[in-house]
Amino acid sequence: MIFLAKYANLIPRFLDYVKVNTRSDPQSTTIPSTPRLTEFANRLVQDLTAIGLNNVHINPQSAYVYATLPANTAKAVTKIGFISHFDTADFNSENIRPQIVENYDGQSVIKLDAAGKYTLDPAVFPNLKNYRGDTLITTDGTTLLGADDKSGVAEIMAAAEYLLAHPEIKHGEIKIGLGPDEEIGTGADHFDVADFGADIAYTVDGGPLGQLEYETFNAADAQVEITGTNVHPAEAKGVMVNASQVAMDFHAGLPVHDRPENTEGREGFFHLYSMTGDVDSAHLSYIIRDHDRQIFEDRKRLFQGVADQLNQAFGQDRVQVTLKDQYYNMREVLEKDMHVVELAKQALEDLDIQPLIFPVRGGTDGSKISFMGLPTPNLFAGGENMHGRFEYVSEQTMEKATDVLIKIVALAEQQA
Ligand SMILES: [Zn+2]
Repeated sequence: MIFLAKYANLIPRFLDYVKVNTRSDPQSTTIPSTPRLTEFANRLVQDLTAIGLNNVHINPQSAYVYATLPANTAKAVTKIGFISHFDTADFNSENIRPQIVENYDGQSVIKLDAAGKYTLDPAVFPNLKNYRGDTLITTDGTTLLGADDKSGVAEIMAAAEYLLAHPEIKHGEIKIGLGPDEEIGTGADHFDVADFGADIAYTVDGGPLGQLEYETFNAADAQVEITGTNVHPAEAKGVMVNASQVAMDFHAGLPVHDRPENTEGREGFFHLYSMTGDVDSAHLSYIIRDHDRQIFEDRKRLFQGVADQLNQAFGQDRVQVTLKDQYYNMREVLEKDMHVVELAKQALEDLDIQPLIFPVRGGTDGSKISFMGLPTPNLFAGGENMHGRFEYVSEQTMEKATDVLIKIVALAEQQA
């Protein structure tokens, strides 16, 4: 196997890292969620130190691994941070055996396991056609790959290594943050912006070549608790309040169109993700999503309004709503100063990579970190079909992602 000479350690390091099981644990209340994440963080500390980075440490508040690449210019340059996560999603991560497909022709069906039970078929996954001539790294069909987001980890480390070996590329101070528990939605909750010390940052956690994301959903979780009155059905008239029926009436009070299966682009929704109930009591669980903050607030009011109407009709509080905001659209923070986005966009254009800028129908760690005062859009790391056995990544895309990080810090220095 011939590895691209420009970043000699990029792919070998990536292959080493994906073989380590770093699945996070959604049931856990510790930080990080499992001891294996601490173990991997310790390994990263060693590797970042070996590369020659400074101030390598595990931040106690967040369990993130932080490192600094000192400036090599006297100019006052914006301090740029690069962030990725090293935990993997909720899918088998034991004994990950990455497969290498060299010089992919862009049309063949790739067998993942020897028997061919699981395949990467361009008829099913049309993005495969974009990788003609590339070296693809896939799973063996039994696990996920963990390109989400060990590709980001390996790219950030390769960029740092390259910059240390090429002092002719001038740059300001660069901050690196590699974190746990992104996949269980808690990793960035305790992110320590002050200790990190960057002025602007990028998560390197996006998908295919060119992705640049600076707009996410506003997000809330909503729980609905319904109390019924259970009596014998034969003598129920005027007495029984069937909690399951009230639950259905509640759901029917929400706009029919505004469901995930009916919406796309910038359309928000109410998503009923779980329901339980009998006559005595019922429980509905929703998430509420919208890119527009005003419409998001209106959606929460409408949701509460449906409950209020039912309670009014009953003359008592039978429907209790608990709303909890989860994260907000980072655009609200970024549009005050679009420099961080413009810089990445220019880096992509300078490298002849078409920027792919779309509002994310979800959140990123940057959604939370941006609201902590550190503007943090999301850059592509290269992974496709994340979170399952069909995950794969192109070696060439990983190299281009590394190019982008280096271009961003070089541009920032030139503009200072
Ligand atoms: Zn990720």
